[in-house]
Amino acid sequence: MKNELTNDILRVLYTEDEIKARVEELGAALAARFAGQRPLFVGILKGSLIFLADLIRACPLLCDLEMMAVSSYGNATSSSGRVRINHDLQQDVRGRDLVVVEDILDSGNTLAFLRDYLTAKGAASITIVTLLDKPSGRQKAVTADYVGFTVPDEFVVGYGLDYAQLYRNLPCIGVLKPEVYGKPDKT
Ligand code: 5GP
Ligand code: MG
Repeated sequence: MKNELTNDILRVLYTEDEIKARVEELGAALAARFAGQRPLFVGILKGSLIFLADLIRACPLLCDLEMMAVSSYGNATSSSGRVRINHDLQQDVRGRDLVVVEDILDSGNTLAFLRDYLTAKGAASITIVTLLDKPSGRQKAVTADYVGFTVPDEFVVGYGLDYAQLYRNLPCIGVLKPEVYGKPDKT
């Protein structure tokens, strides 16, 4: 399929069908893990939006949903250690079993921060689900409980993940052509 969006993709790492199959497995695993309980999913905006929407529909449980938005500072393709909350929880999470849903675990700064933050808020348990894990980037000791795919040390986009706010609506996950990076921001 050729269009404005797919023209910029150098290589597809995971197709739409592969992602769908994996998300269904993760949903089933979470449903088994939390059977009879009522976990509270915490989606991390904006990157996890598409994954979260598919994951909770693949997980037939009674559950609650919250969103947080955080940003970590650095340049466009690597993060610094500093994390800022742009949108916070709207309900008390004390005593709740939380399922934090993230797009990608790279340096670990974001999830290390969130784990400490949610622990301080009194969560009973924190389960980390990340669509992608990039272990080569790790700076903080964070391990996800559920991982969709382990990715090589490359900057990936699609299925919620952006470059300069673009490509989130790409149905697959891939790597951009080198000439796209460094192009002036199209927004
Ligand atoms: P960490 O805090 O673990 O370094 O990174 C988490 C955030 O960095 C992700 O939520 C994502 O926004 C961004 N990030 C890290 N690696 C990639 C990547 O390969 N592609 C994209 N689009 N974002 C990434
Ligand atoms: Mg993110």
